[in-house]
Amino acid sequence: MQIEFSDKLKKIPPYLFIEIDNKKKQAREKGVDVIDLGVGDPDLPTPDHIVEAANKAMRILDNQRYPFGMGLLAFRQAVADWYKKRFNVTLDPATEIVALAGSKEGIYHIHDAFVNPNADVLVPEPGYPVYANGTLLSGGQNYFMPLKKENHFLPDLHAVPHNVAQKAALMFINYPNNPTAACTDKKFFEKAVKFAKQHNIIVCHDAAYSEMYYDGEKPPSFLEVEGAKEVGIEFHSLSKTYCMTGWRIGWACGNAKVIQGLAKVKENVDSGVFQAVQYAGIAALTGDQSCVEDMRKTFQERRDVFVNGLVKLGWKISKPKASFYVWAEVPPRYTSMHCVTVLLEQAGIVATPGIGFGPSGEGYVRFALTQNKKRLNEALQRIEKIKW
Ligand SMILES: *Cc1c(COP(=O)(O)O)cnc(C)c1O
Repeated sequence: MQIEFSDKLKKIPPYLFIEIDNKKKQAREKGVDVIDLGVGDPDLPTPDHIVEAANKAMRILDNQRYPFGMGLLAFRQAVADWYKKRFNVTLDPATEIVALAGSKEGIYHIHDAFVNPNADVLVPEPGYPVYANGTLLSGGQNYFMPLKKENHFLPDLHAVPHNVAQKAALMFINYPNNPTAACTDKKFFEKAVKFAKQHNIIVCHDAAYSEMYYDGEKPPSFLEVEGAKEVGIEFHSLSKTYCMTGWRIGWACGNAKVIQGLAKVKENVDSGVFQAVQYAGIAALTGDQSCVEDMRKTFQERRDVFVNGLVKLGWKISKPKASFYVWAEVPPRYTSMHCVTVLLEQAGIVATPGIGFGPSGEGYVRFALTQNKKRLNEALQRIEKIKW
């Protein structure tokens, strides 16, 4: 029998990092002490009180059953209370919040709820690959909005052609941004609301890094600006804030009709987030927040060590104000792919080539600060010895 992937699955571009992955494996097999700054996964443990809450909850019979629905009301209430406190935004836990098995899951499924075949989806590039791949799997088309240094890595909404904007169903934005680490203020969000209203586009703001900020400068929520709830939703994740990537929990919140659409897709795909994990989420959001402060302190120290070190070696970087990424310009005459190959072959360091996030990522590499200061110092010493 001949087995063929669907046309839409075939449209998903090959995994661009596969070459790096293979080289990483080969280096390890040869005994190289690889310093992996490639993956955006915190190396710190989930705080104890969160693990304990899940531990208790999973022994309760009710939590061993199908969860169903939009998430425990108690979880959604915890989200609403956290939102009020953090952003002064009021959310109705019954209709404006849905629990997700990680925000990636919701970012993927939102397409199924709102993208018709041949509709456009406005997607930033370089960007998190799920925005664009979700479009392809739902039969829509991506219109890529380049994020350029000269525009502070914000999309130029005026550059979107009128006919594209008119048939666009969704627009993704993401600040603090992965991979560029750029932040934005409410002014850009206001422009996005205006643009969305003008063209009837649902805005999906990915706020996965809203709590991973430095120097005390708190990034705003999209929902803080007037009219935002009329046009869109915001995705949040507990993955980065509480070092819970493996647990698979996040949420989407905002416009009730948009949340309803997303929830309807999910009803037919999964049966909700394991309730013990939702209780862990409640413990995270309502418990002592000093663990988040500690997380920020750890990554801020690492950022200072690594960025100061690279700058001393002549690299061009602006210090990230949020996220755990360093978006560095590659040395002159190098492509991003060539640069990461040299980093791996000469220094045993894994970084991600900017091109892997979209064509405008060419000229950059992304380092994830997911190793301790000692390892980062070791990485700097090795980079210093590279013969470019
Ligand atoms: C890590 C990340 C996410 C999602 O993480 P989940 O673990 O699925 O919640 C979403 N968006 C961006 C940009 C990310 O980097």
